[in-house]
Amino acid sequence: MSGITLNRRKIMLTAASAAAGLILPTGGMAFAQTASGASPLAQGGNVGHYRFRVGDISATVLSDGLIGGPPRIYASNAPETELEEVLRQAFLPTDRLTLNLNTLLIEANGRRILLEAGAGQTMGPQGGRIFANLAAIGLRPEDIDVVVISHTHPDHVGNLRTTDGGKAFPRAVVFAPRADWDFFVRNDPDLSYMPVPEDFRRNFAAAIRQSVEPVTNGIELYEAGEEIVTGLTTLPALGHTPGMANFLVQSGNDQLLLTADLAYHPIVNVDRSWLPGPDRDKDTALASRRRIFDMAAADRLLVLGFHYPFPGLGRMLKTDTGYAWVPVNWEF
Ligand SMILES: [Zn+2]
Repeated sequence: MSGITLNRRKIMLTAASAAAGLILPTGGMAFAQTASGASPLAQGGNVGHYRFRVGDISATVLSDGLIGGPPRIYASNAPETELEEVLRQAFLPTDRLTLNLNTLLIEANGRRILLEAGAGQTMGPQGGRIFANLAAIGLRPEDIDVVVISHTHPDHVGNLRTTDGGKAFPRAVVFAPRADWDFFVRNDPDLSYMPVPEDFRRNFAAAIRQSVEPVTNGIELYEAGEEIVTGLTTLPALGHTPGMANFLVQSGNDQLLLTADLAYHPIVNVDRSWLPGPDRDKDTALASRRRIFDMAAADRLLVLGFHYPFPGLGRMLKTDTGYAWVPVNWEF
């Protein structure tokens, strides 16, 4: 197949909602992203976008910046001394693991589809760069036709909302997995499985509800496994959340696999098989991880890891003991 065309029904949406802006009640998470293309963040001068091709499809990794936390959260069953040693050997700090936010824009036949919305400032002040990176490649938020979310955690939906409570991507049809919508949005989620303080859990749940509020009317809910548009298929990758999907982008003989949050950082979740603490059902998540990593290794697929070091592109190598992450070489 040679491109992407919408095969779902609703494309047009009404103008941005005028819902009142809401700010999370307690610290750490606040909505401060801008949809104007200007970033409130100081820039270090490095690019946050990376272009490549998947057959006829133009693909661009657009960084939304960084999040992070104590390494223990992302490697819940790692022996403490071993975890510190692995981080030291990777020349990484032992008190904080930094994660990237690698959203992907795919463009074909004049249609622009964003895979993951990014965090905005829902999980700390270093997110929200996607709008500046869109502007850097000559695009505005209103140029996005479709946004597809792998799962509804705040770092994947945070940028759906502007500071004043409107739609950050005013023309976009937003797709989200139905099982996540039921768990996190339609109901009060029990997040007691998350290895974080109670107020963090409360803010986490509130950040999800507030981020998706502007797009609730008109949301397209999908089952993992569905084709969203021609050339973009979702794959079930359950366990991290009730409905998490992975994405397979295909054009001609080229394929790209987006593994969402099957792993947070390759150092602890690929090269080592430690289990991410935020996985709700760790056995199911582990089975999804192995099934999809095995497929990626066997088919030598190009892989994009949402949280891997920017731009997050590489391949999975099957080893005697598990897997190894092999980043691709940078191309200009
Ligand atoms: Zn994530």
